[in-house]
Amino acid sequence: MRDGLGRQIDYLRVSVTDRCNFRCQYCMPERGKIWFPREEILSFEEIHTLVRDVFIPLGLTRIRLTGGEPLLRQDLATLVGMLRTEPAIEDLALSTNGVLLEGQAATLAAAGIDRVNISLDTLQGERFRTITRGGNLELVLRGVKAALEAGMHPVKVNCVVVPGLNEEDVIELARLTIGLPVHVRFVELMPVGDRDLFAARGSVKTSEVAAVLQERFELVAVEAPPAGNGPADYMAILGAMGTIGFIHPMSRHFCDACNRFRLTANGHIKACLLTSSELDIKTPLRQGASPAELRQVVQDAVDLKPDWHHMGDGDQALTMSQVGG
Ligand code: SAM
Ligand code: SF4
Repeated sequence: MRDGLGRQIDYLRVSVTDRCNFRCQYCMPERGKIWFPREEILSFEEIHTLVRDVFIPLGLTRIRLTGGEPLLRQDLATLVGMLRTEPAIEDLALSTNGVLLEGQAATLAAAGIDRVNISLDTLQGERFRTITRGGNLELVLRGVKAALEAGMHPVKVNCVVVPGLNEEDVIELARLTIGLPVHVRFVELMPVGDRDLFAARGSVKTSEVAAVLQERFELVAVEAPPAGNGPADYMAILGAMGTIGFIHPMSRHFCDACNRFRLTANGHIKACLLTSSELDIKTPLRQGASPAELRQVVQDAVDLKPDWHHMGDGDQALTMSQVGG
């Protein structure tokens, strides 16, 4: 599927829940009941139907399961298995905070998850607890190891760099790549979720992170970047097993190459993470609309895809956990 600007849209991020067992400072408010009512959440069958009859025929054949925290969704491997019955799916990936991954990695890999992104913003336990508002770093590190042992490939570690919070952690995180075949990516903070945090602190440019790392390590170009659907630039520490990536939505937006749609946990289609417009596909699905009618909803959503984002213009109502970051 192409939009009016010729951008090919072949990547779908499916949020399977808006709930989370962390409350990362940049993603969610500290308190408050913000979850969608359970009956509003798409069932596995509904997700499978939409993927099979609507998204795949439109050419969206690369899928990522995300959230909220997707591993909170009971028996997620069942959904993975259902999606894996579709041979047209070229890539089935997962984004997780990793805290429940140790117990699920082998089952998810066996069910058909190809690769995983794990969020990890610091290697200091207390700071991790502060950023995530209660998360246990040890469990996440065990989750990273379990993903590698289960054969998920590549295993990426995503770190959102927040000014004054974890800037100094980038060196230790980069060092992870020396002895482990993991791909550590540094991401610029975006004004979604906790907009006050962004307003107060702004974001650290990935070019600044790269400069800090360049002072400490010998960085070299990467000939074959790890598989993925995103806009990261990669380098590596000389001799390291893994790579280091930089994702810069703020300092150099990559909207002209945007290839993705999002399906929210409550069954809405978002053509752009950073605008509030979305189209409800769950209601027509539940009312018995035909596959052709449902595909038309997605085609209509193409018009909601802006040529570039207007971040900071106040045009963003949901948190990342609701839209499936
Ligand atoms: N819970 C899973 C996780 O943390 O990986 C999946 C959902 S989470 C919303 C997906 C990604 O969005 C995470 O890597 C997280 O760091 C990122 N994220 C959330 N809020 C963000 C923000 N304001 N700016 C940049 N990235 C953000
Ligand atoms: Fe939860 Fe992921 Fe958001 Fe953190 S970033 S609060 S783990 S959804």
